[in-house]
Amino acid sequence: MSFFNKAGDQDKWKEKYLNLLDEHEHSGESYREKEDLLCKTIIRLTIATTGLDPLLDPHLLNIRDQLKRGVNSQALKEELEKFTHSVAQIKHAPPPSRSLETDLLFDFLLKHYTSDKQQNALKLLRQQAETAKFGTANQLFIALFEAIESPIEDKSAPPAIANHIDIGVVSKHLLLLLEGIEIPSIFDQQAQTAKQLLAASNQTTAAFEPILDKSFKLLLKIKQHNQSEQQDIDKFLSHITEQLAALDISVMGASTATQQSAENRNKLDQSVSEQMEQLQLSSTNATKLEPLKGIITSRLASIVKEIQEHSQKEAIQRQKTQQQLDHLVNKIKDMESESCELKSKLKIANTQALRDTLTGLPNRNAYNERLETELARWKRYHSPLSLIIWDIDHFKSINDNYGHKAGDKVLLLIAKQLSDHSRATDFISRFGGEEFTMLLPNTDSQSALKVANQLRQAIEKTGFNASGASVAITISCGITEFMPDDTDESAFERADQALYLAKEQGRNRCCVL
Ligand code: GH3
Ligand code: MG
Ligand code: MG
Repeated sequence: MSFFNKAGDQDKWKEKYLNLLDEHEHSGESYREKEDLLCKTIIRLTIATTGLDPLLDPHLLNIRDQLKRGVNSQALKEELEKFTHSVAQIKHAPPPSRSLETDLLFDFLLKHYTSDKQQNALKLLRQQAETAKFGTANQLFIALFEAIESPIEDKSAPPAIANHIDIGVVSKHLLLLLEGIEIPSIFDQQAQTAKQLLAASNQTTAAFEPILDKSFKLLLKIKQHNQSEQQDIDKFLSHITEQLAALDISVMGASTATQQSAENRNKLDQSVSEQMEQLQLSSTNATKLEPLKGIITSRLASIVKEIQEHSQKEAIQRQKTQQQLDHLVNKIKDMESESCELKSKLKIANTQALRDTLTGLPNRNAYNERLETELARWKRYHSPLSLIIWDIDHFKSINDNYGHKAGDKVLLLIAKQLSDHSRATDFISRFGGEEFTMLLPNTDSQSALKVANQLRQAIEKTGFNASGASVAITISCGITEFMPDDTDESAFERADQALYLAKEQGRNRCCVL
């Protein structure tokens, strides 16, 4: 029969096995918790002991760094060996003058090392420390490490405690400590009393204990106060830093991109950085909030002043730039209106140059221009082109009989008749005085003659009233068609001769040559 044949036994073993597993798991957890606690404690211990001796400080820092990265037994062991070696080198150092700090250290350690073994070992060590068993702080720390790492659990062994406290030595150290530390004003009175009590000689152990207790408590309170003061300083500084950062951003935003602005900005940056460096220095050395606040306030005032000056410079610079811009804009506006004026003047001038002011018809210049175009077209397409020269008959006598103004009215009237009775493609101009020309594209001389006679008759019918009397107005013309060998002058000459003929033949007629 096998051992496991009995169901009850099997369950029993199973339960035992599971319990063991649980236990193992829990012990693992509690081990990790302890390890974590131990790390934290050692880190704090290294912080608390930094500054005791310059030889130890780098090792303390290394141990702290090691632990922050996690527990690496080998590395930690090596670091501790180096530390122990350094401790051995400085064992002839003068006796410690920090009995109070040692005591605070014990309070701290006892709070954190809660196992019976460690508690007993630490208490034993504390008693030994109180009786000044340890000549140097370093000896004490060696013992401390041993107590934490491998505490002795021999409760039966009598602790090496001295029966009496050397009141003189303890008083002396406490007094030195009270003299040496910075006492906040609210503790002035209590510190004064404690100092007087400590200085009083011939005390019995029983009478001295409450004094000792009072002094320790006072020192603890001072330490706590200074810590909270430091926290206030930190808070205050981070607040100030935030404000400065915000200020810096707003100044950055307000700056314009001109070269002068960039220079102003650089000057401001340099000055503010200097002020900030000073601020940093003051903060690092500060132990009290109030004087630090004073320093910071005055530094901030300087920074604000710098920023205000910078803003003023910026404002002036911006104003200057704005003025320059305004000036430029005005100049551009002036130039624009000037150029507009010139344009319209030029337009008028051009119009005037090509138009007759009295009748509004194109003038002789315009005729010459148009003739050039029409001649080019005539040569290219070989379509006929005719020229008519008109001249008012006896116009001088109209002027003479009815005045110059009446003569002008006649000129206007004839200009209108010529315009009204011609085709859009015909080009009419007032050539000069009472003479008009007409260019008729795509028109041979015979067609031109027809058009001319119709015009002549229309004018003849129109008539003119001057001083209540009806005045007859007639007009004569000479017509010619451009010929292959013609120049503008030769054709004009021929048309003029035709006009001469018309005049000679009695006026109010059209002749072709
Ligand atoms: P004809 O029939 O031979 O052409 O005789 P006419 O009097 O018309 O010829 P003439 O050349 O002797 O006179 C032309 C006149 O036209 C002389 C001049 O005072 C007048 N005249 C020229 N231009 C203007 C003008 O702009 N306004 C007025 N009112 N008269 C003008
Ligand atoms: Mg004439
Ligand atoms: Mg005339």
